[in-house]
Amino acid sequence: MKYTIKIDRNSIKKNPNAGFRGPYYVPGKTDCNADGSVSRNITPVYMINGEPEYSYDLIYPDITCQHCGSVSSYNELEDEEYVDDDDDYCISTNICPKCKTSDCCQIEFETLKDALKDNP
Ligand SMILES: [Zn+2]
Repeated sequence: MKYTIKIDRNSIKKNPNAGFRGPYYVPGKTDCNADGSVSRNITPVYMINGEPEYSYDLIYPDITCQHCGSVSSYNELEDEEYVDDDDDYCISTNICPKCKTSDCCQIEFETLKDALKDNP
């Protein structure tokens, strides 16, 4: 079975910080020093590499495993990284949580471009 993960049309928002680059700060705890002054610990958490222009949610369908027929939500599918007999690094994706068959279905993601076509 082939599934397309769709973009929730109602969730598409233009990002007001689009293109922003730089460290993202969160305020840490506020310390009160012995002399009464207050110092605030502000920690950079991560670097933002150019924020995307839009934010949106995805709609996850229930997935039926083509091997065992059980129904799982997309979030229950597993991925596994392993090294094969030739020492090659491999990734199994879309592993059925019930029967552990990899690629138990085909999943593709709708592109934002397609979603915006319906909802300019
Ligand atoms: Zn299965």
